[in-house]
Amino acid sequence: MSENRVVQGRMVTPKRLAELIEGESVMDAEAIEDADRACPECGGDVISVGYMLSVTSFVTGYKCQDCDWAATDDE
Ligand SMILES: [Zn+2]
Repeated sequence: MSENRVVQGRMVTPKRLAELIEGESVMDAEAIEDADRACPECGGDVISVGYMLSVTSFVTGYKCQDCDWAATDDE
């Protein structure tokens, strides 16, 4: 599964979305999903993506589709 989504007016792949959230390259990313929350800055729709930052580090990242807001939940 590799469904692209529009973020801040640009189409992104799951891996590209993860890189936007992290600010650096990631190893692999899962499919983008709708997060059950609204952006705390603009109230826009938030999407989430799980990705491997390293072999031992799985992260769930969140990104607003309308502004620069992003967050992560390290697991
Ligand atoms: Zn926002």
